[in-house]
Amino acid sequence: MENISSKLISWYHKNKRDLPWRNTTDPYKIWLSEIILQQTRVAQGLPYYLKFTEKYPTVETLAKASEQEVLRLWQGLGYYSRARNMHAAAKYIVTNLEGKFPEKFTEIKKLKGVGDYTAAAIASFAFKEKVAVVDGNVYRVLARIFGIDKDINSNDGKKEFAKTAALLIPEDEPDTYNQAIMEFGALHCTPANPNCLFCPFTQACVARLTQKQDKLPVKIKKLKTKKRFFHYIVVEHQDQLLMKERQAGDIWQGLFDFPIIEATETIDESAVIEQLQSNYIKEFEVQSISKEFKHILTHQHIYAKFFLIKTQKEKQLKSFIAHYGAKLYNQEKIEEIPKPVLVSKYLKEYIF
Ligand code: SF4
Repeated sequence: MENISSKLISWYHKNKRDLPWRNTTDPYKIWLSEIILQQTRVAQGLPYYLKFTEKYPTVETLAKASEQEVLRLWQGLGYYSRARNMHAAAKYIVTNLEGKFPEKFTEIKKLKGVGDYTAAAIASFAFKEKVAVVDGNVYRVLARIFGIDKDINSNDGKKEFAKTAALLIPEDEPDTYNQAIMEFGALHCTPANPNCLFCPFTQACVARLTQKQDKLPVKIKKLKTKKRFFHYIVVEHQDQLLMKERQAGDIWQGLFDFPIIEATETIDESAVIEQLQSNYIKEFEVQSISKEFKHILTHQHIYAKFFLIKTQKEKQLKSFIAHYGAKLYNQEKIEEIPKPVLVSKYLKEYIF
């Protein structure tokens, strides 16, 4: 085990990428980087890390910001609950912990949005606590080197991987070891083309010796992708557009979009008009219908069309506004509020 850890660490010193969150032991900045990088590639996450650390250099500054400002800065990164949880955790640290970031794995794990992996990363990188990280890269490296063929989504499999990772982590350099195994998985023992020929484990790796690189790690469960069809009603009134904040219980909570008619498939203009007329606006003109936008999320594919309409009937408009809990916004305000990327694309292409 010791030999494997030291080989990983020595590989890391020669091959690691120079990333800004690796040059700090500030737990706040490490936490920001870890939340940003969840389900996000380094190249995509890096500019967000730089923007966040510049605008909110401390946990106090992040706690003081409004949720809308935080979501606006996060825009384009997806999985917006990460930003909302991060903001709530910053407020918690400032209000309940006198602004002091917790130092122990068990305490860090109590923060909103922080699971085992993130808590282990912060505790080891910032405070050198000996607690092993286990993420997708680590599952792959351990499964291949040791030939572990248990499903990484099963409880039994999780226990075995956690046990193996805990045996590997050294007393003196838990931070470097954790960085090393993740970086090795990200750059060398990659999912599709592991570089087995020039690998420090080429003589010992079970997957290589049995030619099972493409079979390990074993992942059994797969969530089904759901298709959703959004027909957005974009109401224009006196150079303003009607928008509403999305509520809890669905994607994009806290972001702003337009009233939606959702269906199980794309419906045509007459069906949209019919539904709209039964929802308070009887008299309106359809100004334009957008092309279909496709937006891919992890477990959902969104197909969206935007129907731009105009009405002169103030009373009908008021009932519609009340029914959807929406408000009229001018261009300046629309640019400020956080929106799903899909909506920003439509506005750019068709409206502003
Ligand atoms: S030999 Fe290949 S599969 Fe095994 S650890 Fe090295 S790169 Fe990964």
